[in-house]
This record gives sequence, structure tokens and C-alpha cells, in this order.
Amino acid sequence: MTSQSRTLAPEDTASVAVAASPARVLQNYMGGRWVSAKVSGFVDVTNPANGEVLARAPLSGRDDVEAAVAAASAAWPDWRSRSIGERTEFIYAIREQFRKRIDELAASVTREGGKVLSDARAEVSRAIEVIEVACAAPMTMQGRILEGVSRGINSETIRQSVGVCAAITPFNFPAMVPMWFLPFAIVCGNTFVLKPSEQVPLTSEIICHILDDIGLPPGVVNLVHGAHDAVNGILDSPGIRAVSFVGSVSTAKYIYRRAAENGKRVQALGGAKNYMIVMPDAVVDKTVSNVLSSAFGNAGQRCMAGSVLVTVGSAQAKIMDRLKAETEKLIAGDGTDPKASLGPVISSASCDRIHQAIETGVKEGAELLVDGRRPKQTPAGGNFVGPTILNNVKPEMHAATDEIFGPVLSVMHVQTLDEAIDLVNRDARGNGTSIFTENGAAVREYSRRVEVGMVGVNIGVAASPAYFPFSGWKDSFFGDLHVHGWDAVEFFTRKKTVTSRYFSGGETGKYFVEQGDKK
Ligand code: NAD
Repeated sequence: MTSQSRTLAPEDTASVAVAASPARVLQNYMGGRWVSAKVSGFVDVTNPANGEVLARAPLSGRDDVEAAVAAASAAWPDWRSRSIGERTEFIYAIREQFRKRIDELAASVTREGGKVLSDARAEVSRAIEVIEVACAAPMTMQGRILEGVSRGINSETIRQSVGVCAAITPFNFPAMVPMWFLPFAIVCGNTFVLKPSEQVPLTSEIICHILDDIGLPPGVVNLVHGAHDAVNGILDSPGIRAVSFVGSVSTAKYIYRRAAENGKRVQALGGAKNYMIVMPDAVVDKTVSNVLSSAFGNAGQRCMAGSVLVTVGSAQAKIMDRLKAETEKLIAGDGTDPKASLGPVISSASCDRIHQAIETGVKEGAELLVDGRRPKQTPAGGNFVGPTILNNVKPEMHAATDEIFGPVLSVMHVQTLDEAIDLVNRDARGNGTSIFTENGAAVREYSRRVEVGMVGVNIGVAASPAYFPFSGWKDSFFGDLHVHGWDAVEFFTRKKTVTSRYFSGGETGKYFVEQGDKK
């Protein structure tokens, strides 16, 4: 278990418990140098598969954040003045390094986050996809021009960098989520401060080594480890112009409010409760395999995890036996074990919380169709919960309302698509959803009416590709501009409109008149 308390109120800026351990102490990275944090608080970074302490992350404070912001501010004038081609070259170089070091990055994701290696490789591949899209900046950063807004006058809108941008990221995608922001921010001419989750800081360390190796100028990207104090330092720092956040709903709300109060632009992505609707005509075997990987992949710790399954009409009779049988075949184990279908959850505190959620579901009347509370033959010291299904869940039960963030699938049964849509829309969040059917009319009706940011059709995890915007709606997102795709360029640039004429220029007609006069 990490020594990080998960119950602090967002406003609580007190440092969390100091861990006593002989493990390596991580350093912050700023101005191109690795430096010790100025604080004395640390949190143990553990391998969730066996409890091994991998490192100690410093709980940096405001001074550390300000030092990083100073390095980023100093680097900005030169960095933003470089040509777009030069900046893009660095993004290509990052992409090459990610490809070369995919095994190292994936191993790190598994070691500190627990997911199985195939999922970790998929995560790094998604990060590479985002980096590739950022390489399109010479096209996507272009502005607009209109000739002749008045006689001899043109107007043009250009995009310029915003300044120092910061990202605060969650534990469940240590390689991918930082790369949702970093490549777009810097290719657009900004400099950057990253505050990764204190539970998984090691992959960010590798990312900064990569940036060092490719010769990225000092201060363009800076890394500050820590938790609440570092976050509050970012939110209050006058030098930071934009904040990107990914994490739980309560933290997202807090980040959005405090950063906006301080005049920053903000995109804050929150938690989720994603519904999967199975229609009577769904293709049973493919639907079940997609539902399983959506619900239990990454041990259910995905913001796009399908956590509620809703069968419509006769779909219940068609899929439930198979769903149970296939779920019972899944194996929880160390993410490095090729036989494991899912790895551990992030901490023993998460394990306890998930057990509690299952017990509450049973107390409230749900049927425990598959019980994963005591998975067999998992390594000692690990935080394992096996795949679990709570059946006959009702909308008012906690299993329907809480984001359990573990391998627990809540199943509900309704008779019509209308009822299914009502269930989806009564939830406060609206991140992702999927519908399984071959009926185009049902798909069209569902996609039009659900209040959710990302919809999958016969796709379990409907995460937008990197060249499209990614985000939920309602409590799953606070802000305006989504992550990656065109929105990323919008978020990481400021528009400036220049309206111009030249008195000696041809567009006024004068040039030609004078040339003509000479003849
Ligand atoms: P979290 O909110 O606990 O932490 C996220 C970040 O915020 C971390 O860097 C952490 O240090 C910081 N933080 C946490 N509590 C804070 C507080 N009280 N004050 C200031 N900073 C604080 O989230 P997590 O547990 O790391 O990640 C899981 C959550 O993230 C889930 O709810 C999941 O759905 C969500 N998530 C959402 C998306 C999305 O795209 N919408 C993607 C990934 C994860």
C-alpha cells in the first residue's frame, strides 16, 4: 500500500505521511537537470503485483513548482522563436525513441501500474499515435487569412503559443496520458511542466530521459513529482497559463475551479461510469468478448471501462450464461505473466474499496454472479481482485452510481432501448458508452440521444483515435476544448488577428496608378 492517503479533501494542502524506506529517491527534472525536491515528505512507489517498493517519490511543494516554472519561462522565448519545422523535428525524435524503447516503457507501465504487458504495450502504442498526430503541427497550426476585408486591407488570424503549460495526470495510464498533452504543447511553441501521479512516477522519469537523450533544449519540458501541494502550486502559479488535468470527478472539479479563478485556461477530464447496451440482435460471441475486455481489461481501471452492462429484451437470455462462463475463465495475475488476463489494482486501499463496493452491492440486493474477491494463485503481497459480476443491479444501488474503478461489472436488464437511454442519461457522468447491435436505426437513435462524449458501436472501448478529440461530457469533463485532435492545437495556441494594409502596396491601387503614371 502506498503511504498516500486517498481521503484528503481537495483543499487539504498538508503533506501526506512520510514513508520510511531505503528505496531510490526520485528527483525532479527542470532546466535540463535532475534536482532534489526541497521537501522532506515522500511516498513509496510500489509494484502492485507484489508490494515491492520501487522508489520513493518526493512530495514537492510550491518552491519546487516555482523552480520548474522559472526554468520553463526562461526556455519559452527561444523555444517559441524556433521554426515550426525545427520544433516538429524534436517530436519526430520523441516518436522514434518511443518506438525504440517501447519494451522498456511498457515494462515500466506494468511494473508501477500493474496492467498486463500486452495492455502496457497497447498503451505505449497509443502514446506513439498521439505523438504522430502532433507531428502534423505545420498543417494544423496554420491560421486563416482573408484578402480584401476592405479595399486594400487583409485580415489574418495566426496561432501563437500560450506560454508555460502544465499537466496533472492520473495513475492508470502513466505513458499515454502525459503524452496526450506534452507533444502538442511543445510543438505549438509552449514550454511544459508535468506533475505525474505520485503512484506511478517512474514512466515519466523515462520520458524525461528520452527528452534529454534527443537534446530537447533545457527547460522546454520539466517534471515535478508530488501530490496536493505540487498541484496547488501549479494551480496558483502566476507563471502557468494553461492547465490540463485527468483524474477523478472531485479532483477535476476542484482543478477547474481553482485554475479558472487564477485566470488560466483549463481542460479537466474526470471519472466515468460507462454503459454498454446489448440489443437482442447483437452478435453474441463477439459482443461477449468485447464486453469482457472492456469491463476487465486493465483490471477495470480505465476511464473508458464498460462498468455497467444493460441487456435489452431477449438479449438477457442470449448472453448471460456465456458472459458468466467466459468471465470465470479470466485469470488475475502478475502483469508480466503471459497467462494473466488482468493484473492487480493499483493499491491495497483500492483493493479494500473494491471489496467494499462488492459487499455493498450484495447487501443492496444484487446477485453476485461471479465473485472475484479471492482470486486463486495470485502472487503474495499483490493487490488482486478477480473479475466480478453483480447481476440484477437497480439504478439506485451504489453498484450503478459509484465509479468502482476495479474489475466489477454491474448488469441491469430492461425491455426497451428507450429505457436503456434513460439509464445512461440519468448518470451524472458521460464519458463513453457502447451499443452492441446490427441495427442501424437503433444505433442512430442511441448515438443521437445519449449525453455522452464518446460512443462505440460494437466496440467495447470507444476511445477516440488521436486525430479526433477525446473527452466525455457532464461531470466527466470540465472545460471546453477536448484532448488531442484539432482541439489540442486550439488549446495550446492563442489566436491573434492582424489586419493590415500598405500605403505603397498594390492592393490600394496606388502602386499600379503610380507605375501607370510613369509610363
Ligand atoms: P485522482 O483524481 O486521485 O488523481 C489525479 C491527479 O490529481 C494525480 O496527479 C494526483 O496527485 C492529483 N490529486 C489527487 N487528489 C488531489 C487533490 N485532492 N488535490 C489536488 N490534487 C490531487 O485520480 P487517479 O486515482 O489517479 O485516477 C483515476 C481516476 O481518473 C478515475 O476516476 C478515472 O476515471 C479518471 N480518469 C479519467 C480519464 C478521462 O479521460 N476522463 C482518463 C484516465 C483516468
